[in-house]
Amino acid sequence: MFGWGEAGKRHPLNSVHQPGERPSREQAARRNAPRSRSTRPAQVVEIEGYSVTLLRKPIRNAYLRIKGPDGHLEISAPLKMPSAEIAALVSRRRAWIEMWRARYNSNLLEGKSIDTRHWSEERKKAAREVLDERLARLLPHWTLIIGKRPTAIRYRLMSSRWGSCTVNTGIIRLNLVLGELDEDLTELIIVHEITHLWVSGHGKEFRERMQAYLPDWQERRHRLDEHQLF
Ligand SMILES: [Zn+2]
Repeated sequence: MFGWGEAGKRHPLNSVHQPGERPSREQAARRNAPRSRSTRPAQVVEIEGYSVTLLRKPIRNAYLRIKGPDGHLEISAPLKMPSAEIAALVSRRRAWIEMWRARYNSNLLEGKSIDTRHWSEERKKAAREVLDERLARLLPHWTLIIGKRPTAIRYRLMSSRWGSCTVNTGIIRLNLVLGELDEDLTELIIVHEITHLWVSGHGKEFRERMQAYLPDWQERRHRLDEHQLF
């Protein structure tokens, strides 16, 4: 997953469905249970001076996310987690929250913040056409070099990730926004996601492969990270 989650932008490109993420039998049973019994309605509460949307769910750990252009906080917390522990989580993440908000504001001034809401059909079509044209050149090249081929490439307008790869099905999803950015950033995501067909995480082997395929991948990634999606 590539999300502005608890992990912030630690792995903005990461979108592989890890084997460990598969629901256990217990989780699957919970998921199939009537929602009303397990998940409570969202509440907006004040925590540590922030307005926070609090979701109580049958989960083991609490997660803090920053949502939307205004940096609104959303917390998913286990059903019985005491409020004091939730407040402590917010308190621990205060620097990160402030950094994100400051970064968002400066990106907004620099025009690097990209609103993925309300795209017109024309805008989507234009981005799709750019990506189609790029992929027609990039895919044959990179599938040959990397030695893996996705079964399908799909486009989707996303506010939380640039791409994803479902290893089981071999399907790669690309954020339509890439069609509005430089081509070498589309290439970065293509190479990143195809590489996941060999390696699922972002560990040593993954980084070594990226380094071999695209020696300037880190620089490209930093440039991509300057664009804040919402
Ligand atoms: Zn990844």
